Amino acid sequence: MAKSIVLDAGHGGRDNGAVYEDMIEKNDNLRIVLALGQELENRGINVYYTRTTDVFQTPFEKAQIANETNADAFLSIHRNSGVNPGEYSGVESLVYKKEGLALEMAENINGALGLVGFDEIGVFEEPGIIVLRKTKMPAVLAEIGFINNDEDNRLLNENFDDVIGALADAVQGTLEPEVYPAGRGGFFQVQVGSFADRKEAAAAVKKVSGEGFPAMLDTKDQRYRVLVGRYQELDNAVLMERVLRKHGYTTRIIG
Ligand SMILES: [Zn+2]
Repeated sequence: MAKSIVLDAGHGGRDNGAVYEDMIEKNDNLRIVLALGQELENRGINVYYTRTTDVFQTPFEKAQIANETNADAFLSIHRNSGVNPGEYSGVESLVYKKEGLALEMAENINGALGLVGFDEIGVFEEPGIIVLRKTKMPAVLAEIGFINNDEDNRLLNENFDDVIGALADAVQGTLEPEVYPAGRGGFFQVQVGSFADRKEAAAAVKKVSGEGFPAMLDTKDQRYRVLVGRYQELDNAVLMERVLRKHGYTTRIIG
């Protein structure tokens, strides 16, 4: 049977969440949730939403909506905010208790977003948070970077597809460890670029190869992808990914 998850875009309506310059947290949360939900649905996971529009809900209502589903997990998406702009950065995930599926998903989310470039602050117990306390299923509240940190906003906005892919990898990797990441294609590769234009992709392959990496061009869904290596073991792809990131590449492991 297909796995299922409730996605909660934090805040909404008259509850803006954090605000910084012209950015409003509730809008970022909804944008992330709608894109993530689509990606998870594409991957065969059933997705329920607490909200798909800009409406106000109390945390109790959010938990109640979640509990009316029999979903396997609950994920609330937020942006963090520090007292002073730029003071803090990174992702953190909150759980009712550091155990079981919730802890696993929290760690997977932090790890996956770490690969996109976010600092990993950690997983913390916050039993007082209503959507963690009142939901019946394993629940995580993920803070996707700080809304008052320019670098975090750049990571989110310039790599939005990678952020969504990373979150989807983390959710799917938690709910369906048996089908992910082992062997969708039978091997793992590191993607360092994706282009609409073939010439640009070919130039990127040349550049990456010129730095000594085994790069190749791959076509998928009318995109031209620059892939490095071809590994049976995920660990080896992760090692290659680390080296590529040191060379300044934004990477994503595909299987
Ligand atoms: Zn929030």
